[in-house]
Amino acid sequence: MIDGCLEMNRQGLNQGTSGNISVRYKDRMLITPSATPYESMKPEMMASMPLAKKDGAWDGPLKPSTEWHFHMDILRKRSEIGAVVHLHSPYATVLAIARKPIPACHYMVAVFGGSDVRCAGYERYGTEALSREALTALEGRTACLLANHGMIALGESLEKALWTAVELETLARQYFNSLLIGGPVLLSESEIDETLRGFSDYGLQRSAGK
Ligand code: 13P
Ligand code: ZN
Repeated sequence: MIDGCLEMNRQGLNQGTSGNISVRYKDRMLITPSATPYESMKPEMMASMPLAKKDGAWDGPLKPSTEWHFHMDILRKRSEIGAVVHLHSPYATVLAIARKPIPACHYMVAVFGGSDVRCAGYERYGTEALSREALTALEGRTACLLANHGMIALGESLEKALWTAVELETLARQYFNSLLIGGPVLLSESEIDETLRGFSDYGLQRSAGK
């Protein structure tokens, strides 16, 4: 988790104490502590919270990230998800400030599960209300923008969630730049469906063997 935080900083995806990471570990959620610079984080500082009961109790020397509500609600609702990453990355946040969802401007939008990446409605950081907005925006998706705030990216592992975050920031930059030259030509629903079908056999293929 600390390597993931430091990597987000190295890639310019986060700065200061913005952003946070959680992972599913057995029947608990491990989450980065609040307001702690990533450079000074130590493994024993991670907060551990039971997933079975959402009462805000934690084990660990520091209080969990203020965004523990949406981290926990996502891990509780989405059993296929093993890690949640929250960032204030530059281009995703610019779009979130303008409350612009990302449409089907590139076939890679489909890696997030459909023909767009939604922007969750605004609620103050750290609230249960923000979590409700995020969960709605994440339906059928592995990422969303958070109005006037940043983004959330999901994955079955922390590596995959970080990959999702980098892909979303890349798409946000491309979409933003396309808006500067007259706006994108959007792909149709059927073109996105075709892309999703293509993804199902994209990547390393193992031969069936004998
Ligand atoms: P924490 O330092 O509490 O994790 O908060 C950072 C943040 O990004 C809040 O939205
Ligand atoms: Zn934030």
